[in-house]
Amino acid sequence: MELTYECRSCHAVDRVDAVERAEVLKCPSCSETRPVMASSFDAGGLVACAACGTDDLYWQKDFPQGLGLAIVILGFIVSSVFWYYNRPLMTYAILLSSALLDMVLYYRVPNVTICYRCLAQHRGVGSNPESRFKFFDLAIGERYRQERIRVEEHRRREQDPQSNSPLPPS
Ligand SMILES: [Zn+2]
Ligand SMILES: [Zn+2]
Repeated sequence: MELTYECRSCHAVDRVDAVERAEVLKCPSCSETRPVMASSFDAGGLVACAACGTDDLYWQKDFPQGLGLAIVILGFIVSSVFWYYNRPLMTYAILLSSALLDMVLYYRVPNVTICYRCLAQHRGVGSNPESRFKFFDLAIGERYRQERIRVEEHRRREQDPQSNSPLPPS
């Protein structure tokens, strides 16, 4: 399984192949290390985030999020041109094929499992064994997003004690 994660100290992004066999993650830019917890995996595969150990993970299709929508919109635009020129058969053919293309893409494109807390991405065999992880849940996502904002705020204050800007409303 492949892990893509962001370094906690310098925010550099690193990729590790076969993370289930790695013992530590070492940042290539600032050399900060952290252990890969054995409890992140079981016999089936991933249980918790390999980068931070959080067991709140979600999966999604591993392609740019706007792509599927772009195909549908493009199909709609092209088909309306044919509709305008009174070619109903071509109109339907294009609408249908753009929907089909979307479906084929959906099934062909692999999945990626993402950590709610640190947004690390897990790809490949064992990254979502037996569909253990579900789709993105807005409520859980929001909770972790708020947490990230507070952590970032805290870090900023530590770096610059002069600034006393209040916390953003949560
Ligand atoms: Zn680093
Ligand atoms: Zn994580």
